[in-house]
Amino acid sequence: MAEVNREMLLDCALCPNMCRCECPVDQEWRREASSPAGKARLAHLLLEGRIEWDSALLEALSSCLGCRGCQLLCPFPELDLAEELLRMRTEERPAGMVLPAAVPYLNNLKKFGSPYGARPTGGAASGPPEKPEVLYFTNCTAQANNPRMQQRTVELLEAAGVSYRVLDQYCCGYPAQIWGDLELARQLAAENAAQINASGAALLLTDCPECWHTFTARYPHWGSELSLPVVDTATYFLELVREQRLKPGPIEGITAVTYHDPCIWARVAERCEAPRELLQSIPTLELKEARPAGKETRCCGAGAMFQLLFPEQSAQIARRRLEELPPADAVVTACPFCRENLQVDGARLLDLVELLGCSVLQERDR
Ligand code: SF4
Ligand code: SF4
Repeated sequence: MAEVNREMLLDCALCPNMCRCECPVDQEWRREASSPAGKARLAHLLLEGRIEWDSALLEALSSCLGCRGCQLLCPFPELDLAEELLRMRTEERPAGMVLPAAVPYLNNLKKFGSPYGARPTGGAASGPPEKPEVLYFTNCTAQANNPRMQQRTVELLEAAGVSYRVLDQYCCGYPAQIWGDLELARQLAAENAAQINASGAALLLTDCPECWHTFTARYPHWGSELSLPVVDTATYFLELVREQRLKPGPIEGITAVTYHDPCIWARVAERCEAPRELLQSIPTLELKEARPAGKETRCCGAGAMFQLLFPEQSAQIARRRLEELPPADAVVTACPFCRENLQVDGARLLDLVELLGCSVLQERDR
């Protein structure tokens, strides 16, 4: 785990907070301590020993979605404020200090390997036992709240004739780090990496941007490097469509959709094209662009498990984002957190794999 970059934090602390208009938390909370430079100032003062840790400070430093909206206007290209704040909460907070709202989720993680409690059984290995083309890592959030996402992914793999296994896994570990338990994060990573690396699969398929980011950017720091490439479902299924192993057709009852770019896919992975190409591969489907979209997207309010700790603010951030989406039959996204959080006030949300699954399976059955 890299250490907090004190110099970068000081640069940010001295900045006139010029990115605050791009920070969804600041837009919602409108208090200095939750603004980007405000959080950096608190972090700096803590590192200098000028102030002491307490629960209010931990709450302020935790009020970050990890969305990297602040990077859109930041004059320091090397600064990743979200990551520095995460390091502060992981490396510098006093041992055992946890926000009360995080306690039940952290306990679930320790007991079940998922923040949401007992994991459903039946996700265990399916398909050929050895050397599958694809090892599919299902994310905890969809597993707990929207198992149809996992089901559709499996149906698409089968429709394309891909040999696969579903990994009966633990949480990727990121939530444990968010809530300050790096030891638990490392333990979950080590158990996952052991299974993944022993699978003999050609690639690891993920449908969650936070899992992807954790596998690719955090596992190497946690001593759990993966020995196979990690590929997102949009990129992978687009390739299968291009190879005509998947054949999308028109979808009954859905003629126009808008696409909400998840922050990590758009700004960290820079994957904005594959989901759009995939949507455009569905005959007769109209894609209505959000404003802003692509790399300039705005967070749904659920990044970095924010919705579990700050549900009211998270819902308000989701409402703001929904106002930026044009009317359509459904909002499509490619992140289980966005899919859950944007359903506030009854909006119709679908994950990209759910939509593609409808398209391919309806076409097959026509
Ligand atoms: S990462 Fe997002 S929530 Fe965190 S400070 Fe930057 S803009 Fe605000
Ligand atoms: S993240 Fe960048 S733009 Fe925002 S306050 Fe810090 S230094 Fe300034």
